[in-house]
Amino acid sequence: MLSPALEKLLVFQDRDQRRLALEQQIKRAPEEIASVRRKIEEERAGLETTKLAYREAEARRKALETEIGGAEQKVARFRTQQLEVRKNDEYQALGHQIATTQAEIGGLEEKELEAMFAIDEAKKQVKAAEATVAEAVAAHEARIKLLEEKETTQRADLAALQAELEQARAVVPPAALETYQRIAKRVPLPICVPMRDQKCGGCHLKVSNGVQTDARVGSTIVCCDNCGRIVYWES
Ligand SMILES: [Zn+2]
Repeated sequence: MLSPALEKLLVFQDRDQRRLALEQQIKRAPEEIASVRRKIEEERAGLETTKLAYREAEARRKALETEIGGAEQKVARFRTQQLEVRKNDEYQALGHQIATTQAEIGGLEEKELEAMFAIDEAKKQVKAAEATVAEAVAAHEARIKLLEEKETTQRADLAALQAELEQARAVVPPAALETYQRIAKRVPLPICVPMRDQKCGGCHLKVSNGVQTDARVGSTIVCCDNCGRIVYWES
């Protein structure tokens, strides 16, 4: 059976475990929130990449336009020169240059068409990305709000629990409390564990016959031979 000291210690331990769990959750909260914020940054960076592809296609088209304009001026210049030359071979040489430049213009115009097609595609992609990113960011922001609210609640719960913990601590006999705190410095919670089939519920190793007998009697605080936790007989 359980000694009165152990009964009180178990109440204290239950609250102590809840305190620890809450403290760990609160400690993790900033990292959880930061990881969601990183996701928002990633979404926005992805959108910027899509926008960049669009701007690059625009720049390509503009460059081609300039190049075509230059080539057209060249053709106009050759035509003017043709009017001024007297010799037939000079006239023909200019004619050849005009034909070559016009062929170049044809090639450039084809590329310009491709660039315009790429602009259209990029525009569609930007529009689609803007919609999905906005949706994803909204979902992430909602999650952040939820996490922040959860943290606020946990902090309030912890404050309330601290008071309950102190109440439970105050009624535990000092010797039992001292034993508990000493063990807690070495092993993780729980400190008071039930014993089943002569095995400690903390380290799961077999306890000695003496420990088993003492725990069964329950008049004193009994510790596991292996891990040092307080073992009790669960009837
Ligand atoms: Zn043990």
